[in-house]
Amino acid sequence: MGPPGAGKGTQGELLARRLDIPRYSTGDILRQALREGTPLGLEAKKFMHAGELVPDEVILGIIGEALGHDESAQGFLLDGFPRTVAQAEGLSELLAEKGLDLDAIVNLSVDDEEIMKRLSTRGRKDDLVETIRRRLEIYRADTKPLLDWYAGHGVRILSVEGVGDIDEIQADILGSLAL
Ligand code: ADP
Repeated sequence: MGPPGAGKGTQGELLARRLDIPRYSTGDILRQALREGTPLGLEAKKFMHAGELVPDEVILGIIGEALGHDESAQGFLLDGFPRTVAQAEGLSELLAEKGLDLDAIVNLSVDDEEIMKRLSTRGRKDDLVETIRRRLEIYRADTKPLLDWYAGHGVRILSVEGVGDIDEIQADILGSLAL
């Protein structure tokens, strides 16, 4: 977890490769659907371009499908999901059906000023200043409270500073996971 631009994708890719497990990024899956013009892409488009969250049912459908793959049986990494309490509750149900549990949440912290700097130079379609502000607002209102929600549910939360050298941040993540 972490705010937009915290480096979840970058660090998630490195970690999934290192652990040899699949990484399911809702943002990547949605962007691919958008590029391919699938019904999912068409449905998600207006939300994504406005910096709003795609509806929970749509997102839970994506994750339900991903967790249905055989490759996920040996473990998996979720990137950009869950982002709301409703998504976290849906995930708990999906995991319970499979007899699985979350091992840990890695929370990447980066301050707002650094995020604005990073995202306004990244140039993705949803990286316009207004949209970035909206995504940060939503992160604070809907997603950040999930950390307390998970702490209340006894899930281990590992906080890692997301500013600095990419490899050093990865080393911190591995260290905090005790891997
Ligand atoms: P970032 O974390 O930089 O905002 P993502 O690639 O994770 O980038 O997400 C991009 C956009 O995709 C979000 O702004 C949102 O519209 C949509 N999205 C991705 N994941 C979710 C999710 N779990 N719930 C709702 N919308 C999502």
